[in-house]
Amino acid sequence: MVLQMDITPLNRWISDGGKPFIISGPCSAESEEQVIETARRLSEIKQVKAFRAGIWKPRTRPGTFEGAGNVALKWLRRVKEETGLLTATEVANEKHVYEALKYGIDILWIGARTSVNPFTVQEIADALTGVDVIVLVKNPINPDIDLWTGAIERVARAGIKKIGAIHRGFSAFEKTVYRNQPNWQIPIELRRRIPGLPILCDPSHIGGARKYIFEISQKAMDLNFDGLIIESHIDPDKALSDAAQQITPDTLKEILCRLVLRSPDPSDPRLLDELGELRQQIDIFDDHLLDLLERRMQIADKIGLFKKRNNITVLQSARWDEVISKAISKGKAKGLSAELIDTIFKAIHQESINRQIRIVNNGLESNNFEERKETSDFTDFHNKT
Ligand code: PEP
Ligand code: MN
Repeated sequence: MVLQMDITPLNRWISDGGKPFIISGPCSAESEEQVIETARRLSEIKQVKAFRAGIWKPRTRPGTFEGAGNVALKWLRRVKEETGLLTATEVANEKHVYEALKYGIDILWIGARTSVNPFTVQEIADALTGVDVIVLVKNPINPDIDLWTGAIERVARAGIKKIGAIHRGFSAFEKTVYRNQPNWQIPIELRRRIPGLPILCDPSHIGGARKYIFEISQKAMDLNFDGLIIESHIDPDKALSDAAQQITPDTLKEILCRLVLRSPDPSDPRLLDELGELRQQIDIFDDHLLDLLERRMQIADKIGLFKKRNNITVLQSARWDEVISKAISKGKAKGLSAELIDTIFKAIHQESINRQIRIVNNGLESNNFEERKETSDFTDFHNKT
C-alpha cells in the first residue's frame, strides 16, 4: 500500500525550517512561571524551533495532575509573543482543537491514547477542516501500523497539509529497559507507505528516563527521522508529570550539540559512486537470498508431498529444535546475532509449515503464493509458541 497525500515538505512549515525539526518543552504546563522560564531558556538554543506543553493531560490513573487546562493557553500565547518560538499542545477532542486555535497555537499533536481511537480522531479531523495548522499524529499505543496510517489519513482528508507523524514507542506488557518499545520498522514502513511524510521521534516517551534521551535521539537521526520532540523542564525532579524523563534546557542543549547528523546521501559524487557500488553488491546478495528461498520452498513442497503419501505429521518438533539450534550456533560463528537467525529461521520455517499443511490437506501440488494468500486458515505455529 502506498498512499499519495498532499503534504507540505517540512522545510516549508516555517521560514527557517529544516532538519532536524526540534520541539521541546515540559510534559505539562504547570504554572505561568514554569512555562515562561522554560521557554525563555529554550529559545536561547538555536536548534529549538517550537515549544511544547501539555495542557489537558491524559493520565494513566486518576487522582494525578491532569493539566492546568484552558488557563495555560494564555501562557503559551505569551511564549510565542515573547520568544518567537512556535507553540505546540496535545488535543484529544474537538473542544481542545477549538480552544487551541482560538489562542493561535501553531502545532497540534494527537496523543498515543487518542490516535488509537478512530471516532475521536475523526472528531478532531472534522474540527480541523479548512484550518491551516501543523498537525502531528503520534503512533497509537499498540503497534498497529494500519491504525496509525488511518489516523493520518483522516487528518489529511480534512485538508491538513502540514502533517507529520511522531514515533513515541509502543506499550508492552513485559518489563523492558525502555518505557515504550521503539519498533523502528513500523515508522520506517509508515514512511514507505506515505511518501513525503515527515516523521519525528519522541525519545522522552520511548525511553522514559533521562539517561536514554541521547541514544534514542541519535538512533532516530541515523534512521533519517525529520526531527525530535523532547520533554524539558526548568526543574525536572519537581515536574508534576513524567519527572523521570524530563531534562533541563541545559542538558537538552548539550544533547543537541553531541548529536551526529549524517546526510542520507553524500553530496560528493565520488562518495556517491562508492556507495552505489556497495549497494549494487547488496542487491546481488538480495537476489541470491530470493533464489535460495525459492529453491528451499520447492524442497519443502516435496517434503510435504512425501509426508502426505506416507501419512506423517507436518511438524516434528524435535527436527525443528535441531534446525534452529544448529543455525544459531553456525550463525554465531559468522558474527550473526542469535536474534537475527531466530527471526529469519522462524519466518522461513513458518512458511514451510504453511505450504506443507496446504499440500497435506488439499493435495494441491502447486504452491502459488497468490493462490495461497486466499486460504487463511494456516496453523500459525510460531505465533502460538
Ligand atoms: C506527551 O507528549 O506528553 C504525551 C502524553 O505523550 P503520549 O501521547 O506519547 O503518551
Ligand atoms: Mn509526557
